[in-house]
Amino acid sequence: MRIYNTLSRKKEKFIPLEPGKVKIYVCGPTVYNYFHIGNARTFIFFDVVRSYFTYRNYEVTYVQNLTDIDDHLIEQAIKEKTSVPEIAEKYIAAFFADISQLGVKKADHYPKATEYIGEMLDMIEKLAEKGLAYEVNGDVYFSVDSLTSYGRLSGKKLEELRVGARVEENLQKRNPADFTLWKKAKEGEPRWPSPWGEGRPGWHTECVVMSRKLLGETIDIHGGAVDLIFPHHENELAQAEGISAKPFVRYWMHGGFLNIGGEKMSKSLDNFFLARDVVKKFDSEVLRIFFLSKHYRSQIDYNLDLIGESEQALHSLYMLLKDLDYLRIMDKRINYTEEVLESKNEFLAAMDDDFNTARSIAVLFDITRKARQYYNQQNPVYEEYLHMLVELGQVLGLFQNLAIKLKTDWDSYSNDLIALLVKYRDKFKEEKNWEMADQIRNDLRSIGIELQDTKEGTIWKSLK
Ligand code: AMP
Ligand code: ZN
Repeated sequence: MRIYNTLSRKKEKFIPLEPGKVKIYVCGPTVYNYFHIGNARTFIFFDVVRSYFTYRNYEVTYVQNLTDIDDHLIEQAIKEKTSVPEIAEKYIAAFFADISQLGVKKADHYPKATEYIGEMLDMIEKLAEKGLAYEVNGDVYFSVDSLTSYGRLSGKKLEELRVGARVEENLQKRNPADFTLWKKAKEGEPRWPSPWGEGRPGWHTECVVMSRKLLGETIDIHGGAVDLIFPHHENELAQAEGISAKPFVRYWMHGGFLNIGGEKMSKSLDNFFLARDVVKKFDSEVLRIFFLSKHYRSQIDYNLDLIGESEQALHSLYMLLKDLDYLRIMDKRINYTEEVLESKNEFLAAMDDDFNTARSIAVLFDITRKARQYYNQQNPVYEEYLHMLVELGQVLGLFQNLAIKLKTDWDSYSNDLIALLVKYRDKFKEEKNWEMADQIRNDLRSIGIELQDTKEGTIWKSLK
């Protein structure tokens, strides 16, 4: 298996620290708002990474943090006229509800920053003892000049950083590129006691501390999207290297952005769609196909035409399983023949090549074609292909709740078609064309669908 490591800027053979085990830490959300579909791309991708390692029989420990204290939460608490812990609680609950809608499995641990303040203080004190951190008026900074390796993850040069950071010049810092480890509390802000007075930890300290605490000094994979390479991950790495000679992370993985109109989807640019709204429009598995059809390191534009294509692609997979009556053979024990195993190997080869999901999805469609071909020829090998399709699709997070989905008579297309007819009927009613409006109602009734006009609009139910 090979993984592109941001640190070395090349694909490297994956060798876990401990054979058979993988420790993964992925930077999670700052819980001051609902997350958008760009964040969801990253969460979905790492869900697949974890799922694939599990499929390959690794024992995976997957940690995703929840940043429950920072400026955004403080601002949001003021906006919503409530407290920071209440904001955190509200959006943590929303985060779990939303990832569940997206079909993203829960991580093994969701550490909250505020639960590790003591450990963070220990880390900052150690850095200060080693001469890597200094305090000025209650704020504590990391001194980037004190660490020769600073900048090696992002490839940035100290000189370039010094100039860049001058824009927001903070005269307290020895070097404008120094970053905050501990922030003095302002009037009314949440605070914890520390040797430097009351305050709170910086974001970069949170992740490195929680990663080390839950997964140990060295982890296998640390992930997020590319925006985290600098400064967040660079600064985590600096602290870890500052206090330990052991490597912090073996493989740094960074996903590309979900863009919109060529720009990164982000809260600050106000160009986002919330994941919770998007999953109301599209099945979560449609979104999976949409995201996974491109390599995780490439950028993707939020494009409704392409999502429409993914919708059709997913529909064709389910139609195959329905047409070929997968439910009937679902519990059958299967011994795969050589040629079916070959398809599986192609899938594995794609995934082993730095999680090339675009290629692994192509293999799924290849399997689909073969299944249909064999079925048409009344060759029972089609059953093996169906089983393989489901097995591999599930590695990517497709075919969740499969039995239920295949049993329901009403697939999403029927729903969409009825909604369309109701829309046309509304139009006829607007034009006072009662004859056509009634005709639609009667025709629908004749196939077992009853329309009811309510104050909120027309609703329908199945009479079957
Ligand atoms: P945030 O809450 O902004 O810190 O982001 C949570 C996670 O989503 C981090 O791993 C980010 O790198 C990632 N992320 C943020 N914006 C995008 C985007 N437009 N596309 C993909 N991932 C993103
Ligand atoms: Zn982080």
